[in-house]
Amino acid sequence: MRPIQMVDLKLQYEHIKPEIDSALQQVLDSCAFINGKPVQEFAQDLAKYLGSKHVIPCANGTDALQISLMALGLQPGDEVITPSFTYIATTEVIALLRLKPVFVEVDPKTFCIDPSAIEKAITPKTKAIVPVHLYGQASPMEAIMKIARAHNLFVVEDNAQAIGCDYIMNDGSRKKSGTIGTIGCTSFFPSKNLGCYGDGGAIFTDDDALAERLKMIANHGQIARYYHEVVGCNSRLDTIQAAVLKVKLKKLDEYIAARQKVAEFYDRAFEGQAQITTPYIAPYSNHVYHQYTLKLEGVDRDGLNKFLAEKQVPSMIYYPVPAHRQKMFDAFGGSAYKLPVTDWLTERVISLPMHTEMDHEQLNYITTQVLDFINH
Ligand SMILES: *Cc1c(COP(=O)(O)O)cnc(C)c1O
Repeated sequence: MRPIQMVDLKLQYEHIKPEIDSALQQVLDSCAFINGKPVQEFAQDLAKYLGSKHVIPCANGTDALQISLMALGLQPGDEVITPSFTYIATTEVIALLRLKPVFVEVDPKTFCIDPSAIEKAITPKTKAIVPVHLYGQASPMEAIMKIARAHNLFVVEDNAQAIGCDYIMNDGSRKKSGTIGTIGCTSFFPSKNLGCYGDGGAIFTDDDALAERLKMIANHGQIARYYHEVVGCNSRLDTIQAAVLKVKLKKLDEYIAARQKVAEFYDRAFEGQAQITTPYIAPYSNHVYHQYTLKLEGVDRDGLNKFLAEKQVPSMIYYPVPAHRQKMFDAFGGSAYKLPVTDWLTERVISLPMHTEMDHEQLNYITTQVLDFINH
């Protein structure tokens, strides 16, 4: 059996090696390492794929979030509502910009921000909501947008884990996650569903004026060469990464389907196990399974994590410590928050290997080991 990894980037590369190698060779031959042709080409391809008017490439997903918040004209102390149950980048950039992160609960079924918790957290200082499409499923965007419209709030979607996910509107029409709010952000970190071979990120919006501002901020606030309108930063997608992404974007739907097949296998294997809750599929979103995350009840979760490691099956806890309990947020009153659902989840979730190159032998082995631990 091929050794099991959380993400098997090597085998994925082997399957697309001729295309990737030739794309990389072209960049090397051109030596246009910064803002080479593939950067704009990829941005256009992605805009088309997402059905978004503008895609602004940048250096990574964290920058995408930071630049988005910088573009909204917020003032220090303005409040931004966000889940605590997320990767640290989401909440960190809020604090970095001297805004105030306001942590709210997630829905224990979907792991995504709970709209009723958003409503309760709104104050006169609230300016924005940052929902996170965690593990590859969209947050309930229509409910979120309704609240945002009622209170005149911006919505910045953290789509780092859900690129390619379909949001299903009430009327049955579909939109890609990340294209519903004011701005959408994503990451091309190698292990993400659309990953490059280093760091990368992108910002999407349908708003022309906002797109210009986002572009300007990502480029030192520059409006014309050596004329700088606002304080910005230096955040670019390398040409080499764009060349990789151009190839991989064409495979994204195929990769999503492969992930969904793996999830189906896991779902079936764990069916009827009272202690295991498999991922819930919300009526308003499909799932692109950035992670396949179980909730365990009456199981020694950390014991399973260790047992699997001994059996050469990697598994991960995303995330063991929620944002509001991070020391980083002591100064923001993090520990004063009471978020029992979030705390409950951090003790019960476990993510199993999930990638585009898994075979039945590996899946059989993984599920056998999990069931062995749980039923003995
Ligand atoms: C990966 C990730 C980010 C940050 O992306 P980087 O490219 O690593 O900066 C932000 N939010 C979430 C939810 C992520 O999973």
